Amino acid sequence: MHNRRILISGLGVSGSTLAYWLRRYGFAPTVVELAPAPRRGGFMIDFWGVGFEVAERMRLIPEFREAGYVIDEARFVNGRNRKVAGISGELIRTVLGRRFLSLQRGDLAYAIYRQVEGRTPILFGDEIVDLSEQSDGVDVRFRHSAPGRYDLVIGADGLRSVVRRRAFGPDEAYEAPLGYWMASFTSREYPHRDEGAYTSYAEPGRQISRYSLRDGRTAFFFSWVDQGRPAPRRHDVAAERQAISQAFQGAGWEWPEIESRLHSAEDLYFEAACQIKAPAWSRGRVALVGDAAYCPSLLSGQGTAIAMAGAYLLAGELARSGGDYAAAFAQFESMFRPFVEKQQKSAAKFADRLVPKTALSLWLRNQSTRLLKVPLIGQSMMLAMIGDDFDLPNYREHECIID
Ligand SMILES: Cc1cc2nc3c(=O)[nH]c(=O)nc-3n(C[C@H](O)[C@H](O)[C@H](O)COP(=O)(O)OP(=O)(O)OC[C@H]3O[C@@H](n4cnc5c(N)ncnc54)[C@H](O)[C@@H]3O)c2cc1C
Repeated sequence: MHNRRILISGLGVSGSTLAYWLRRYGFAPTVVELAPAPRRGGFMIDFWGVGFEVAERMRLIPEFREAGYVIDEARFVNGRNRKVAGISGELIRTVLGRRFLSLQRGDLAYAIYRQVEGRTPILFGDEIVDLSEQSDGVDVRFRHSAPGRYDLVIGADGLRSVVRRRAFGPDEAYEAPLGYWMASFTSREYPHRDEGAYTSYAEPGRQISRYSLRDGRTAFFFSWVDQGRPAPRRHDVAAERQAISQAFQGAGWEWPEIESRLHSAEDLYFEAACQIKAPAWSRGRVALVGDAAYCPSLLSGQGTAIAMAGAYLLAGELARSGGDYAAAFAQFESMFRPFVEKQQKSAAKFADRLVPKTALSLWLRNQSTRLLKVPLIGQSMMLAMIGDDFDLPNYREHECIID
């Protein structure tokens, strides 16, 4: 096996999955993660498809289910909180053979992290500040840790990947904005709960959703059309709160109550909905995976699944090639890129349906959910919307560390 020493930047969904599989195939990964410690909680995500299969192969599903929630319905309401349309959670679970779950992003990432904790060196609270590729390795300088030489470096560090910026070029060259913004936060003891219903209230060009969590918390999620206002400065939480307030100014339903909580939210997440379109996922000894390479956008519902699947494939191809990184990176990209590009296309379409821009398209969206109730038609419509068709290869014969 060649090129065993692999540095992974980012201990999110793809980084932890990659570290898990690389170690299992006999590589020696090290991870550098900007955050000082793993994070729990966060926004609610749906998880199914190709990523579900990877999680099954990692025996993570029982833990995911324990941390997860069973959503009975995605309910659309009017300003008086009366239901105007809905999609049954049971329909989705039936169509996907019950291989579907909803859980907070941080809880999913944490469960994967637990598989590598204590088994793989992790540099928390640090990041790469310089990468320099040599003929026999990559010299890496970190902000805090001592510099090191690695055989390969993988950027699994998300939408604004530092590895991509350093080895490939500036973010703007890779980002394709979809024209929406989104934000989320959680709050305690919000009085309206509607347990089991993922409840959304929309007006043309803006939508607020909420879901009741355990321990009396509620997760809020906002999405709105970009009105061309200047974007708040990154990580300036006060400016982000202000931007949300402006975007939802005068909104009905529970907005005034929600807005009063927004200003004390401690876990605000604020991001533009954008896709990452990298013409190549590797350059020499450096490669990208997950959102860093092919983010389908926050609105797609598929980011986590394809981040996990990409990490599984990348590790598997490195194992299959005996560490021949050029062959492995090329094979990984040629196998996975067509699937990912298809996901990105449907994500861009889905974004327009999720936050309709006009009163007519909002009405049409709500009406179209009625068709989902028609037996058979509903199931085939749902399958067309969320089914995915990627056959994950098996690399079992390369596994050498089983614990
Ligand atoms: C509001 C919202 C809703 C979403 N809904 C869904 C959904 O329903 N279903 C779904 O599948 N996906 C959803 N997603 C997307 C999903 O969370 C991501 O697509 C997925 O986590 C991508 O995995 P990743 O490993 O590429 O990146 P991440 O999981 O984001 O991990 C990147 C890691 O890199 C670290 N990092 C960042 N910069 C550096 C640096 N300089 N050095 C070192 N480490 C660094 C970060 O701290 C993080 O730990 C949603 C996202 C958001 C924000």
